[in-house]
Amino acid sequence: MDGKKMMGAVLPGNSTVALHEYAVPTPGHGEVLIKMKSSTICGSDIRAIYHEHQGTGPERYQGVIAGHEPCGQIVAEGPGLRRFKTGDRVIIYHISGCGVCNDCRRGYMISCTSTEYRKAYGWQRDGGMAEYLLAEEKDLVALPDELSYTDGAQVACGFGTVYEGLEKIGISGNDTVLVTGLGPVGLAALMLSRALGAAKTIGVDVVPERRRLALDLGLADQVLDSHADTVAEIKALTGGYGCEKAIDCSGNDQARLISIQATRKWGKICFIGEGGTVSFRPSPDIIHDQKTIYGSWVTNIWRMEELVERIVRWGIHPEELVTHRFPLEKAAEAYSLMASGTCGKVAVVFDEEIRA
Ligand SMILES: [Zn+2]
Ligand SMILES: [Zn+2]
Repeated sequence: MDGKKMMGAVLPGNSTVALHEYAVPTPGHGEVLIKMKSSTICGSDIRAIYHEHQGTGPERYQGVIAGHEPCGQIVAEGPGLRRFKTGDRVIIYHISGCGVCNDCRRGYMISCTSTEYRKAYGWQRDGGMAEYLLAEEKDLVALPDELSYTDGAQVACGFGTVYEGLEKIGISGNDTVLVTGLGPVGLAALMLSRALGAAKTIGVDVVPERRRLALDLGLADQVLDSHADTVAEIKALTGGYGCEKAIDCSGNDQARLISIQATRKWGKICFIGEGGTVSFRPSPDIIHDQKTIYGSWVTNIWRMEELVERIVRWGIHPEELVTHRFPLEKAAEAYSLMASGTCGKVAVVFDEEIRA
């Protein structure tokens, strides 16, 4: 690829996208060059980068090519590869960790403690909004033949994050599951809760288009607006008791309180939506009802491998949440639409993933 050029999108802030020309990278030891096929936009790209560069620490954006939900095909190999090869279809776990700290050894490269070696794709090293991506072999998850690249892109952050949260609270056929916040992460939580056997699913969001999409996709049995009576409405839908499990994907204070108060005695709540705050009354809201609140941040790489295997087994397709596909040249439109919130998942796509 020596001398070959490619286009890549960066997020300068001020709700803009800039396309620049880059040299196609050459893979070094333990690295691969990936032809990008699908690169989906995550809510955290909007929250912490697109409008303005708000992140600090692991979320500090360093002006690199954006996109942390990449999926593509290996087209060139560096020396020293141990498992993957040219032609393999791969998902990129979106954070490259040092590999030797305790968190990396648990597979949670998301929380790698190395300030020098931890670099997230699309935040501190070049991400998926370009024709090619340079990745480390250790960050790759094999994409099964049954799944499309757009299925895989969503596993890289969104579906992986949801699966981790749902596994922490344990979803089964015993449960009615409440999902607060019906953006793409919330829709993924509904889809995976159903796949895990949830008896009933209830979604809450203030945006009518999002509630409609959750129903149209057949992912929620009931959808509710968020207001003063939402907890009472959820209890009325659950025999007066509330849900066994709740997962907050909104990051909104009011929605978090609903997720706590609409969960029944002995129930479990997981927070995965980022930012904001929450206030609740510890005694009546959790202590006296013996409830547990979990926090969950992304997932580990073995669980991501397990998830793609199970997605095939369940016969579901994350790409069904994608409502809009754009070519890279129209990345500005893609981010602007995602920021509006009146859509499902938005994907920037290449080659065979471009569809009418
Ligand atoms: Zn993300
Ligand atoms: Zn590490």
